[in-house]
Amino acid sequence: MVYATGSAHAFTVVVHPVKITRGDPFVVVVSNPEEAPGAEFGGTWLPFTSCGEGCYMALGLAPLDTKSGNHPIKISDGGLSISLAITVLAGEFATQDLTLPKDKVTLSPEDEARADAEAERMRGLWAIANPRIWDGDFIMPLEGGISTGFGTVRLMNETKRSIHSGLDIRGAYGTPILAANTGRVVMNEDTFFGGNTVILDHGMGLYTVYMHMQESRVIEEEIVDRGEIIGLVGSTGRSTGPHLHYTVKLAATNVNPRALVELPLGRAQAMGLSSATALAEGLPQE
Ligand SMILES: [Zn+2]
Repeated sequence: MVYATGSAHAFTVVVHPVKITRGDPFVVVVSNPEEAPGAEFGGTWLPFTSCGEGCYMALGLAPLDTKSGNHPIKISDGGLSISLAITVLAGEFATQDLTLPKDKVTLSPEDEARADAEAERMRGLWAIANPRIWDGDFIMPLEGGISTGFGTVRLMNETKRSIHSGLDIRGAYGTPILAANTGRVVMNEDTFFGGNTVILDHGMGLYTVYMHMQESRVIEEEIVDRGEIIGLVGSTGRSTGPHLHYTVKLAATNVNPRALVELPLGRAQAMGLSSATALAEGLPQE
């Protein structure tokens, strides 16, 4: 495990991982601060949540347009502050050239108005950071081959450029789709691009989006648990075959879903405590 630690007086900070690729999230664990901590990365303040007694945890990310190189993260507990570096790697993102019938690229005014209104409503959701209800590690909602990866640059008919916001995961019609973590259903409807779409609000500005479902198995406002079946794989909306389009949003920004699953969120407190012990005893960090 690679992470950075530092301490100022009594409080200890763990940032994990300290080497990420553009689009990846990271976790910050602060142990035993004098006051509730604050952390700033890339000009943004990260919201903290409790991860046990004397334990505070925050999620941050390097958006896809972050410049590669070292970026400082500053953490304070009211009086004292320390600065650590997170290395952001450029990563490799594929490019797809798509040739589509003209009516799939240029929408009718009615379709465009509908798609715009739906996008506007989704942006309204991302802007709200509710208290955390996710607990422990995130899981993948579906295991299957990836037909289009996160961050893939798509060029449609050599004119319209878009960046793929999530993962397209292949699956047979009717395969169960699982909730990535505990969340509240804040959207459950048939949208223009996404077809049958479910959006879960996990709190702290973290949302997961599931599209093209054959059918949804949830109702709006319901709270679902991690691993609960929320719908079935389908090909509704703008889709050319059965798959799940899966997007993760943090602070209104697209996050690499695979990297979120790899964060040891369920072991945050243990991670903070073990690093505090190691620092106190002068042990090397591993
Ligand atoms: Zn997709």
